[in-house]
Amino acid sequence: MILIGNGKVVTRDAARLFIENGAVAIEGKLIKEVGDTAALKTKYAAAEYIDARGRLVMPGLINAHMHYYSTFARGMNLGGKPATTFGEILRGLWWRLDKELTLEDVYYSCIGPMIDEVRSGVTSVIDHHASPFAVEGSLFKIAEAAKLFGIRSNFCYETSDRDGDKIAAVGIKENVDFANYCNAQNDDMVKALFGIHAQMTISEKTLNQCIEAAASANVGFHIHAAEGIEDVIDALSKYDMRVIERLHHHKVLSEKSIAVHCIHITAEEMDMLKESGAAVVHNPQSNMGNAVGVSPVLEMLKKGILVGMGTDGYTSDITESLKTAAILHKHALAIPSIAWMEPHQMLFENNKTIMERFINGKVGTLKQDHYADIIIADYKAPTPLNADTLNSHILFGLSGRHVDTTIINGKIIMKERELMGIDEEALLAKSRELAEKLWKRI
Ligand SMILES: [Zn+2]
Repeated sequence: MILIGNGKVVTRDAARLFIENGAVAIEGKLIKEVGDTAALKTKYAAAEYIDARGRLVMPGLINAHMHYYSTFARGMNLGGKPATTFGEILRGLWWRLDKELTLEDVYYSCIGPMIDEVRSGVTSVIDHHASPFAVEGSLFKIAEAAKLFGIRSNFCYETSDRDGDKIAAVGIKENVDFANYCNAQNDDMVKALFGIHAQMTISEKTLNQCIEAAASANVGFHIHAAEGIEDVIDALSKYDMRVIERLHHHKVLSEKSIAVHCIHITAEEMDMLKESGAAVVHNPQSNMGNAVGVSPVLEMLKKGILVGMGTDGYTSDITESLKTAAILHKHALAIPSIAWMEPHQMLFENNKTIMERFINGKVGTLKQDHYADIIIADYKAPTPLNADTLNSHILFGLSGRHVDTTIINGKIIMKERELMGIDEEALLAKSRELAEKLWKRI
């Protein structure tokens, strides 16, 4: 048993949002009790005691859309002219990088971001993977890395027709094999979705095969939707339907599915998203970097669509996305009074709901019987910190760099900035070596 005491506890539990001198008792994988330090110290006197020394104690953060495979792009020199459209970014960068990935590269691509996740308090991640010439076993490789770090995860392979029928078929098989494995494991640390790259890279024939395969493995979909205008033009020209229309028509969207981005969508498509119950994931930094436009997330939230937040591989530290989401919508609409609460709602409430759709237990709140996914952040408040001011401190003051202890599923993964049982330097050295080799192949 572990007792974290003497902390400013941010529970995210509406019953008691903030405890000035609070404690969290952990038994096995779960939170046993949340309360005042004095009371819990007496009650759990025999527990291993972690003194939070007045630091923030919070639920671990959730990233609802990630791409571990994108890691080796950092510092890669592509040569030639910079991309001028989203289509050029895909063809010139991502589809050149992912074709070169070996299974070993896939594993080591996870190392850097997984270290950063633990270091920045991200304890649950929903990833979307591509390595078209090393598909078979790729999800198992990523799962192996996630297991090493103890990160709660959900994986899928992004099926597409862009490299031909054979690779599309292997993508479908990898999704099914991994989903069947997860179903058999029945472990909330590792789950699966059925990945599709985007509707613009999937034919009717392959889409129908994906739908059949996903049903056989009893999983929903994780797909990029209307990210660039290219996706809309493709859908309209080939199917006379818009992106969400096509996905809705095929019943790809449901409460078990995630539609990522949803930038170029109409009010009617929002109604389809709402009707389907699908979750949408907003990736503000990635969208700005790709210059694909601004997702109408404020409208979607108003309509009651479940919109969460992801980093899309742009960063591992999702507190950056919170800050970006808070200013992107103000800036885009030139209205400073908007988007104050919604970024918090996406990151802290909706990501929790999205993650919980795919597991049996509960995450994202410090509350009895929820998974013990807990972080301690060394944030020193310059103004009063309480239940009313909390979100402002987190938005303007807190960064992933403040996190110095990370606990996932009741296990201490990082203690006072030290990753337990992980040789970071050796792993990163191998990652650098493989990245350099891959760059030479590009
Ligand atoms: Zn993405």
